[in-house]
Amino acid sequence: MTKIMRQSRYFLKTSKTKPAEDVSVNAILLEQGGFVQKVLAGVYSYLPLGWKVLSKIENIVREEMGAIGGQEMFMPSLHPKDNWQATGRWEGLDILFKIKSQHGNEYALGPTHEEIVTPAALPVINSYKDLPLAVYQIQTKFRDEPRAKSGLLRGREFRMKDLYSFHADEQDLLEFYDTIAIPAYQNVFKRLGLDAILTEASGGTFSKFSHEFQVEIGNGEDTIYICEKCGLAKNKEIFEEGVKCTKCGSDKYRETVASEVGNIFPLKTKYSSAFNLTYTDAEGNKKDVIMGCYGIGTSRLMGVIVEKFHDGKGIIWPESVAPFKVHLLAFKGAQEKAEIIYNDLLKAGIEVLYDDRDVSPGVKFADADLIGIPYRIVVSEKTLAQESVEVKKRSEVEVGLVKIKELSSVIK
Ligand code: ATP
Ligand code: MG
Repeated sequence: MTKIMRQSRYFLKTSKTKPAEDVSVNAILLEQGGFVQKVLAGVYSYLPLGWKVLSKIENIVREEMGAIGGQEMFMPSLHPKDNWQATGRWEGLDILFKIKSQHGNEYALGPTHEEIVTPAALPVINSYKDLPLAVYQIQTKFRDEPRAKSGLLRGREFRMKDLYSFHADEQDLLEFYDTIAIPAYQNVFKRLGLDAILTEASGGTFSKFSHEFQVEIGNGEDTIYICEKCGLAKNKEIFEEGVKCTKCGSDKYRETVASEVGNIFPLKTKYSSAFNLTYTDAEGNKKDVIMGCYGIGTSRLMGVIVEKFHDGKGIIWPESVAPFKVHLLAFKGAQEKAEIIYNDLLKAGIEVLYDDRDVSPGVKFADADLIGIPYRIVVSEKTLAQESVEVKKRSEVEVGLVKIKELSSVIK
C-alpha cells in the first residue's frame, strides 16, 4: 500500500480546463481535481481520490446507522416488474428506469428499495416478538431524472444510504423517528462539518410531514423557510404565508435556498399492506407492520461539501472526509529527505499523498490547493538546513516551520 500513494504513480491527473457543460462549483473542482470523471449526463466514475472521499462519507453514515441498531444488508439494483406493480409505482413513479431484456422480461432499476425490502421481511417478521427491526444499505440508485445537473447534486446514477424500520405500532415508529433517527442524522451531518436544517416537507403518509435535512448552498434547488425563533424549517412546497411554526408557534421566517441531503418518512402501512407484511400481536390478532424509511444522499453530500468548503484555488476538505490528511511536496534537491519523512509519517499511521513528481514548485502548489488535502508539507533544501519543513493548513494562510523530529506528533 505504502508505495502506491506516490503522486507520480497515482491514477490522477488534474486539469486546467473547466468542464464545458457544467458550471456548478462541485462539478468544476471535482473534475479538475481528478476526483470524478463524467461518463454521461448525471453519471460519474469515482477515481481513486474521489472514491476515498465518498467511502469516508459512507463510513461515517455506516457508523451512525450501526450505532442506532441498523443492520447493514445489500439489495439488488435489478428489480422484478411485479414488485413495482404491487405498489402501483410501475406506472406511478415518473423517474423509474424501466428495462426490457432480450427475452422480453421487464425490470426496474432501483431508485429506492421499499419494493424489495418489504417482501424481504415476510419470512423474518411473524410475531410482535420480532419487532422492532431496522435494516439499511448503502448503494447505487438509478433515477431517470429529466435534468441531471449540478455535478454530484443531481445524478441519474447516484449513491444513497437507505434505512427501513419495522414496528408493531405507530407509537413505536414515532419514538424511533423522533428520538433515534433524527439525532443520528444530526450526528452524521455534524461529523461532515455541515449544519443541516431539519425541514418539514410533504410526503408523510400519516404524520402530515416527512422531514428533510437541508444544507444552505447558493445553488441549492430547494427554497426553505427557517423559523427565526427555533430554527425548524418548512419546505416552500408546503409553506403558506402566515403559517405558525409547529414547534414554537412563531410566524417569523427567513427564506433561503438549500440542498436536500436527507429525507425521512413515516410510511405507516403503505408498503406492508401492498405486500401483506403482517404480524400477530400479543392477543393473537393479525396486524399490518408499521414502517418508516430514512434516506441520505451520500454522493450528493460529497457535492454539497465542495459547494460549502472551497476558495478561488480549490477544495478545502473537512478532515473527516479528506482523501488524505497530508499532502507532502518534495522539492528539487530534497527528495531523499522527503522519502524518509514520507515513510515516517506512514509509520505513524498518517495518510499521506506524496508528490514526488518531477514538476515545478508552482505546479505542485497549485495542485495541492486544488485537491484540498488539510495539511501541506513542503520539503525543500531551504528549510532542511534548519532540520525543518514548511507546514501549512489548507484552511489557513500562514506557513509554519516544524522540526522534522516533531512532525508526526504535530500533525497528529
Ligand atoms: P429530490 O427532491 O432532490 O429530487 P427526492 O426527495 O426525490 O430528491 P429521496 O427519495 O428523498 O429524494 O432520496 C433520499 C436522498 O437521496 C435525498 O434526500 C437526496 O439527498 C438523495 N437524492 C435523491 N435524488 C438524487 C439524485 N438524483 N442525485 C443525487 N442524490 C439524490
Ligand atoms: Mg426527498
